Amino acid sequence: MKIFNPADGSLIRELAEDDAQAVAAKYARARAAQPDWAAVALGDRLDAVRKFKDVTEKRKAQLARTLTQETGKPIVQSRNELNALAGRIDFFLGKAQAALAPETVLADPQMHERITHEPLGVVANISAWNYPYFVGSNVFVPALLAGNAVLYKPSELAPLTGLAIGEMLHAAGVPADVFSVLIGSGPTGAALVDQPVDGVFFTGSYATGARIAAACAPRMLKLQLELGGKDPIYVCEDADVKTAAESLADGAMYNAGQSCCSVERIYVHERSYESFVETFTAIVKGYKRGDPMDETTYLGPLARAPQLAVLERQVADAAAKGAKLLVGGKRVAQQGNWFEATVLSGVDHSMELMREESFGPLIGIQKVAGDAEAVRLMNDTVYGLTAGIYTPDEARARRVLAQIRSGSVYWNCCDRVSPRLPWSGVGHSGVGVTLSTYGIQAFTRPKAWHLRSL
Ligand code: NAD
Repeated sequence: MKIFNPADGSLIRELAEDDAQAVAAKYARARAAQPDWAAVALGDRLDAVRKFKDVTEKRKAQLARTLTQETGKPIVQSRNELNALAGRIDFFLGKAQAALAPETVLADPQMHERITHEPLGVVANISAWNYPYFVGSNVFVPALLAGNAVLYKPSELAPLTGLAIGEMLHAAGVPADVFSVLIGSGPTGAALVDQPVDGVFFTGSYATGARIAAACAPRMLKLQLELGGKDPIYVCEDADVKTAAESLADGAMYNAGQSCCSVERIYVHERSYESFVETFTAIVKGYKRGDPMDETTYLGPLARAPQLAVLERQVADAAAKGAKLLVGGKRVAQQGNWFEATVLSGVDHSMELMREESFGPLIGIQKVAGDAEAVRLMNDTVYGLTAGIYTPDEARARRVLAQIRSGSVYWNCCDRVSPRLPWSGVGHSGVGVTLSTYGIQAFTRPKAWHLRSL
């Protein structure tokens, strides 16, 4: 498999791919190794994860460069991801003991009822490239703490980061067969799903998620799918325009818009619409695009070349249906996967731009008459990952957010993930939960003990 730098198209490295036979061999070794790992004291498993965290902190500068080289993520944003990784791992380290502890739910003289949290066994972790440290660790850290063996397939767009994660976990004391890295693209992922694993934990697009769900359907295994979104935000007439525009431009354009919870649609109350559009566009025009290794770059290239055509199609479709292009709108004529930061106003839901995930530096802004219309439009989607509102009025925010169908809701913030809160989606945004204590127990099977003393 050839790994290219999306910033200039140059070849970074070639890696041997895991074919179906190699995947089956790694599965068999993981199956054999898992019971011993589950028998290791939780304190020792916690120690291994703590050491992993320490190594990621020590090697941060080099890991950030690798991530930037293979995905095009600006170097400052790669370091941000690694900085925040420590906080996520600390959450799991702090909560695992309690989340995995057996619970006595009845202790009568004759009858004892108990719940234990058993590991699932061998789990497949098929991951995306956009935040490989986040979306990977949301799965493999709690999965390992709960006593599972993990077959980890990083995205074909971030395999060097995937290999580094494997090396660091092994150096930290996780046995090689308990955490295996599988290198390859779709066929390697499909071969992994074909193994008799006990759980499949997938992060990626709806299209791939639906294919995996169909492949898993008859097998009665644990399946979690963390998929895409078309995340909306509503800016009320009482919101401070500059504050909202700054926050939302960053929410839409950070990591070149390639976050599952990027702001993908903005609805603005008609009384602030003109000034919001003007302020927002000026902020986007000020973002510096350039070499992702440069410390001052905010916008890098896209990681996936085929996404350029998706963005072009969305812009053309919106323009043909009457949208106004305020800035950007096309590929940048240079080597690599570059697209201009693009803002369109005068958009509506007849346009693909307001219905399908863009996953790029592209945003549409639509005028609304008030809360009822905003709620109707925000809910007019097959997705439901996050949604938010900007207003100083907390009661109004709570009223609007209570009517929104999505896994997470935001008041005066956006594009935000907290390890303390469950991360989940509605509809095409997926099934299952990561993060929070639910996201630790997700890697276990509750076993019910009915114990009668005679
Ligand atoms: P993708 O669906 O193209 O690929 C995801 C993974 O699936 C990759 O590792 C890929 O090799 C593998 N794969 C491809 N075909 C497969 C098959 N048939 N069987 C098994 N595995 C297969 O997605 P991507 O481009 O890596 O990621 C972008 C998408 O991920 C966006 O839609 C984004 O919103 C979503 N995402 C969601 C979350 C979340 O938490 N909800 C987080 C990050 C990304």
